[in-house]
Amino acid sequence: MDADGCVLDVGRTARRATRRQRCAILARYTRCMVDHCPMPAHLCQIDHISNWSDGGATDLNNLGPTCQFHNRDRYRHPEHYRLHRVGKDRWGFTYIGTRSKG
Ligand SMILES: [Zn+2]
Repeated sequence: MDADGCVLDVGRTARRATRRQRCAILARYTRCMVDHCPMPAHLCQIDHISNWSDGGATDLNNLGPTCQFHNRDRYRHPEHYRLHRVGKDRWGFTYIGTRSKG
């Protein structure tokens, strides 16, 4: 690591976020990425926005905090969530649920 220690994009070389990436994410987010979820970001897991299993990279712009519940639920039911931009450097998910009901 260089003097700046700024390794924020590790691509496909590592699945887990680095300590520094986690630090940068906690500076950007205060809570779980899912709209209206109250879980504080520092209690969240760092999640891949585009799933690792689908080829998503461990890069800062593809990472964000989700609580354990939303991490699992979004992995199992990605169709229940819609991704949207929050500001210029953050992401959010809106829970849209199962739209077949009704
Ligand atoms: Zn959540």
